[in-house]
Amino acid sequence: MKNILNFNYEELKSEIENMGWEKFRADQICDWVYHKKVFDFAKMTNLSKVCREKLRDIYYIQPLRILEKKVSKKDKTTKYLFELEDGNTVESVLLFHRNRITACISTQVGCPLKCAFCATGQGGFVRNLETSEIISQILTMEKDENVKISNIVYMGMGEPLLNYDKVIKSVKMVVDPKMLGLSQRHVTISTAGIVPKIYDLTQEGLNIYLSVSLHAPNNRKRDRLMPINYKYPLEELVQAIKYYLEKTNRRVTIEYILIKGFNDFKEDALELAELLKGLKVNVNLIPYNPIDIPGLERSSKKNIKEFESILKLKGIEAVVREEKGNDIDAACGQLRTRRLVKNQR
Ligand code: SF4
Repeated sequence: MKNILNFNYEELKSEIENMGWEKFRADQICDWVYHKKVFDFAKMTNLSKVCREKLRDIYYIQPLRILEKKVSKKDKTTKYLFELEDGNTVESVLLFHRNRITACISTQVGCPLKCAFCATGQGGFVRNLETSEIISQILTMEKDENVKISNIVYMGMGEPLLNYDKVIKSVKMVVDPKMLGLSQRHVTISTAGIVPKIYDLTQEGLNIYLSVSLHAPNNRKRDRLMPINYKYPLEELVQAIKYYLEKTNRRVTIEYILIKGFNDFKEDALELAELLKGLKVNVNLIPYNPIDIPGLERSSKKNIKEFESILKLKGIEAVVREEKGNDIDAACGQLRTRRLVKNQR
């Protein structure tokens, strides 16, 4: 049996043609799955009974099983823990803004990068997600909440650029008008800095946004927070960002988590401003959301404000990210980690 959510539009069309059917059947199936959120072939009533039965014999559509769902009382942020077909779990988050709904989705089960501040990183890596599992997160949330998601950020569990082919295929399905049909400008891929893949992404000709997790202004501090920095140090990463900016002319977002007494000093802000001087970037300052990791604490409000002001004074666009869902374990990997720990007891 083949999961139909692994096929992009062209592949689905050739599957349909190979069965000797007219191509427009692919459009009808896409309409049911991606627009009407109908995941049962038997309910696709504009297909003949014979068609429906044949589809059911060869293919399946697998939305994800919702193991846990937490809704923030403060801002409706909704966090999902999904079970995959093999019993592994991933998390996704829905964020409700005044005029848009953003889904933050996962690309791997666990993550190999072991960032010091991240619950997912502490749990290790299990496997890459299939394209269908990436797409299913979006479809399952849309159906569950009965909403149309307007923005997608590849910023959940895992490093998207380490699952490059499946992620790029899913992005193309997300922006395909026959499928999810989002504007390319509403899609963001976030990376911890996989330098060669940033160059590859530049060549894709996509009009999406790139976000880079920097979190430190120099190699000494970044090595301690993000072990990937040993492999791709800041100089190489900044070169790749420059290349991306030159070739795509799209602004890059720099993510910077502020951790008390570690990377939130005035000197850090000045060094960061120097590092980013002349680049078309905006810096998202993220107050650290404490998980159970000893020694890492959130910066004070005063330090956060000061850090932001210094960057702005130096001509770097910076904003303190609005905090959402901090009453529901919204930090990446927290739900999954808690469940894994519980199951091990
Ligand atoms: S922050 Fe992202 S890249 Fe780093 S360990 Fe966590 S999931 Fe992986």
